[in-house]
Amino acid sequence: MITLRKIVSLVLVLIPLTSWAQVPEIADPNLNDIAMVQPHPQYEAVIIYNPIICQQIGAACGFFRAHEHGHITLGHQFMHPGAYPAQREAQADEWAAANAHPHEILAAYNLFKNGWSSIKWWIYGHPVHRAARLRQYAINYGRWVGP
Ligand SMILES: [Zn+2]
Repeated sequence: MITLRKIVSLVLVLIPLTSWAQVPEIADPNLNDIAMVQPHPQYEAVIIYNPIICQQIGAACGFFRAHEHGHITLGHQFMHPGAYPAQREAQADEWAAANAHPHEILAAYNLFKNGWSSIKWWIYGHPVHRAARLRQYAINYGRWVGP
């Protein structure tokens, strides 16, 4: 018998999957950042990412794309990177920590820990603090594979 509880948990599982799968990711080497969300007439939203930066930072790129998926799934208004309030950025990081591949999370953690940051780092917190916060989120979601 299908109970209401089963339906609710099924819906909760499917919502992130469908939005994750339905938002196209488009490479743009001229993007002045790693990744961002853009409104799109057909798909509602698309994620634009810079393939050159992604090649340089490797697996961490997956974390940043997941971060953008987080903004969409959490219903944040679409803004330019660095224009979101700090709390929204932390929420997108938390969503990415819960949904990105553990090795992508670890790669982003290592970037932050080594002082790498976005241009407007103060929005995201000092990179070392962002690293510590990301590690804690990943631990909370059982997705931490690092030290
Ligand atoms: Zn963001």
